[in-house]
Amino acid sequence: MEAIFFAGIALLCMVSFIFKLLTLRGSLAAFLTGALTFYSFQWQGLVILAIFFLTSSLLTKWKREVKEDFNAEPLEDKKGRTAGQVFANGGTSMLAATGAILIPDPVWLIMFAGAFATATADTWASEIGVLSKTKPFHLKEWRKVEAGLSGAVTRLGTIAAVIGAAAIGASYYFLYDTSTFMASGIIIFAGFFGNIADTLFGAWFEQKFYCQICKTETESKWHCKTKTTRIFGLPWATNNLVNFSSTIIGALIAGGLYIWTVK
Ligand SMILES: [Zn+2]
Repeated sequence: MEAIFFAGIALLCMVSFIFKLLTLRGSLAAFLTGALTFYSFQWQGLVILAIFFLTSSLLTKWKREVKEDFNAEPLEDKKGRTAGQVFANGGTSMLAATGAILIPDPVWLIMFAGAFATATADTWASEIGVLSKTKPFHLKEWRKVEAGLSGAVTRLGTIAAVIGAAAIGASYYFLYDTSTFMASGIIIFAGFFGNIADTLFGAWFEQKFYCQICKTETESKWHCKTKTTRIFGLPWATNNLVNFSSTIIGALIAGGLYIWTVK
């Protein structure tokens, strides 16, 4: 029975590669994430992973023509999500799954869900927030900036973050027999505040670039089909690292609150 699940995960990763949702190495990373998730958190864990992955993929492709200007990494995007992007969003859940193998404890599941609630809140906030009619407000610069920059928030994006985190918290509640209303609330809370951590990391640490063609700031190395110049941040402070760090924060908030309230 378990073999069927592992074969299914492999099949889905291959299909994702064929349909260019993932690069080759991205699909291998996704297989590793999926296999560990299933091993530690059963098929329900895979459903949570799938909710994140499917909604992110769909939202990224949704209104692509409007977003093209903001995330202009044409070469990379056409090939799908990379291994780095998979680890950025799924790395923390892999750590939680590994922790669950080493020291069995219910807290790992809450941390796993907290990490995915953060990743989902973040993706929904970015992909939906970028469509906001009003300009985003940058938390560090304390002024309105062009859409598409990390560290800036919109009302639409914030609402999307809450709904994204709630989608994972509610899924956890309905999927697991062991779930409690309290734990589900903790996951939603952790996802939302993990997303806020993401915005703060993005505002203070993430590198930023300047596009010579359209004279705007961007977080992308490519804009208007041209290489941009770095104007802020350290080379290693990439969007992937910021996303990974925020899922760690989300997992720690979820795990910490769970231990504090339940034990
Ligand atoms: Zn440009």
